[in-house]
Amino acid sequence: MIKTVVGSYPVVIKEPESLWERVLDIFGIYDRYKYAIERAVRDQLDAGIDIVSDGQVRGDMVEIFVNNLYGFDGKRVVGKVEFVEPITLNDIKFVKKIISKYSKDKGIKGIITGPCTIAGSVRVEDYYTDNRDETLIYDLANALKREVESIQDYVSMIQIDEPILSTGLYDLDTAKRAIKRICENIKVPVALHVCGDVSSIFQELNTFNVDILDHEFASNRKNLDILEEINKKIGFGCINTKVKSVESIEDVKNLLNEALEILKNNPLFSGVQSNEEILKRLNEYMMVDPDCGMRLLPVDIAYKKLKVMVNASEEFERELRERA
Ligand SMILES: [Zn+2]
Repeated sequence: MIKTVVGSYPVVIKEPESLWERVLDIFGIYDRYKYAIERAVRDQLDAGIDIVSDGQVRGDMVEIFVNNLYGFDGKRVVGKVEFVEPITLNDIKFVKKIISKYSKDKGIKGIITGPCTIAGSVRVEDYYTDNRDETLIYDLANALKREVESIQDYVSMIQIDEPILSTGLYDLDTAKRAIKRICENIKVPVALHVCGDVSSIFQELNTFNVDILDHEFASNRKNLDILEEINKKIGFGCINTKVKSVESIEDVKNLLNEALEILKNNPLFSGVQSNEEILKRLNEYMMVDPDCGMRLLPVDIAYKKLKVMVNASEEFERELRERA
């Protein structure tokens, strides 16, 4: 199975050290986040992640986007929301450079925060009526689509983060139309990441125009039930990102085995007999990742958790193969 991350990684900033860096700093062009990106990418690659992120180190998931879209002043909406220029493209190109020295088989996940989650996290002062104004959500979708178009040639998949959908605060039909707008004519697979309990909204999510649904299962066992009916590829969150304690390989393998037992009832797995066929189906339909972003964890814990996830998923596959 492909191993990936949801997105954010602990931010390890490096202050200017060398003379050259200090000179750049005097001119205000020293980039404190470059090292943070490099650290995030190297840790992911060292841990064995196949599709890495840039670590989303430049701010929280809302800041990264609103700071670079027209119509915002900080987290306040002051005018019509519009795309200005690519937001994450330069960092993605930098990640590409890092991984090219490492291995040819690694990919990058391009990540955008979804229109409903952005709309729900800002203060609407002008132009739109409130946080749930459909025009605001669709304007955000149009702007974010431009961002996706600008990065799609450099990434192997796109992920749209819409954690707010599990709170019930947003109309799912509006969210679905907004996401459809973003995904239309995009050349790479698109995942929708919704953390939290999705058991009550899952039937609707299953009809969204995305290729992959990505949810948390380690910290939310109730979500396991959706595996019986999911008709898309699964981003299987199997590491609890809310606690600092590092799970054991055994814990993660048990969760994967539990998931597999439920998946066997899913039409996607119909007709499979041997463990070899199960492995093939798993490779086709499931990727593993942590439950959510890792930004708030200490960096050594985040790394250890990724390593456990990679080792557990490889052992799980090996044991399944040996049982074949
Ligand atoms: Zn999340």
